[in-house]
Amino acid sequence: MLHINGRHLIKPSSTEVAAHVVNGIYLCDTYQIKITWYEGAHYPQVIECSSKILKVAKRFGIKPIDVHLYPNGTFCLASWQDLIKRFENSFSLEIFFYEYLIPFLFSQTYFSIHKKWPWGELNHGCWGLLEWLSRQKKFDQKDIRRTAFWAAQNAGPELTRKLFLTRCRDHKPCPCGSRRKTRECHPDITTAISLIRGAISRGAFSIDNLI
Ligand SMILES: [Zn+2]
Repeated sequence: MLHINGRHLIKPSSTEVAAHVVNGIYLCDTYQIKITWYEGAHYPQVIECSSKILKVAKRFGIKPIDVHLYPNGTFCLASWQDLIKRFENSFSLEIFFYEYLIPFLFSQTYFSIHKKWPWGELNHGCWGLLEWLSRQKKFDQKDIRRTAFWAAQNAGPELTRKLFLTRCRDHKPCPCGSRRKTRECHPDITTAISLIRGAISRGAFSIDNLI
């Protein structure tokens, strides 16, 4: 895959690779994967059979979740909201492969070489869910509701109350409890939190619905 200006080119021609050799990233690698589609799911789950990714995590002394593997070994391909939104109405194996799976594996190969990710990633747990909403240029009420519910599930009742009942501000301590200012700790959560607080104050759902 060739990664250039935020775009992914799968199986680029040699001319394309040559044209972007300076400002693009071209990587060629192989992974053995198993794809399982559980009944009722909107998209399949993928695991790696050769443990190549786990070995990288071990080599760098980091946890599987830090290389985007869930505890059961399945790939964390993108945020839940993103995947559900993309595939809830119709599924395309081509989109799944070209927009999620191959870029995911590309980023794994890149990480194994550079020990950093080729593009911005979301944090784990409720923070990543909130970041996803904050970064959307286009979103609807369903996205706000879904983010609120999933973030609450991840955060648990106590943190959910703290997140959505108090106003989150960039220059105030981050709700994660790090004692750093929000803008220096989890800078991308404030927009999502104010959207969710807005929905709660409009009566779209209540904090009791969330916890
Ligand atoms: Zn924080």
